[in-house]
Amino acid sequence: MHRLAPAALVLLAAGAASAEETRQLDAHEHGVGQLNIAFDGDQIAMELHAPGADIVGFEYEAKTAEDRAKVDAAVATLARPLDLFALPATAGCSVVQASASLESEEDHDDHGHEDHADDHDDHDHAKHGEEGHTDEDHAAHQKDHDHDHDDHGKEANHTEFHAEYLLNCAVPAQATLVTFAYFDSFPNALELEVQVVSDRGATAFEVVRDAPTLDLRDMF
Ligand SMILES: [Zn+2]
Repeated sequence: MHRLAPAALVLLAAGAASAEETRQLDAHEHGVGQLNIAFDGDQIAMELHAPGADIVGFEYEAKTAEDRAKVDAAVATLARPLDLFALPATAGCSVVQASASLESEEDHDDHGHEDHADDHDDHDHAKHGEEGHTDEDHAAHQKDHDHDHDDHGKEANHTEFHAEYLLNCAVPAQATLVTFAYFDSFPNALELEVQVVSDRGATAFEVVRDAPTLDLRDMF
């Protein structure tokens, strides 16, 4: 039985890790992003979520100048919605608001990890000195301790880019075709799951790299 014990521990650790990661991966498959489009009068609201892997090709924390520059360039690109999701000129759409940012699942880099090792047994959360520390956070930390911090990145880290847009259109009913230059800007992106909401209701579409257009005529 002694020979089995380490394997059992590994299985337990893997179980804890997958519980932590499944939650993220449910809404995060590399190559696949989500785009919501809502028509409301003259306005079109859009929201994009895309894995860091799709947008910059990595999901570890950008530490080198080159990686930071990639993130900055991506955020700037994501802040120009009509260059990514082109609409017919006849719709007369312009950008009212656009914001884009990188979101990371891992925001614990500021912890003193030596403290954590002592805390794990007695669950003395007060020692963390920060609010909102949950058992799940704790599990995540414990997982981290099994790895060298320089190489655990791809396993433990997932990042997503998030963008929100508000467009105003002179003739929104002409916004019947969306052309996804998005796939040209981001070579690692393969698919967007698109939810469109209009007076006609809500409809789900999948737009893929090989067929990067979305016909919205039925939504008007
Ligand atoms: Zn990921």
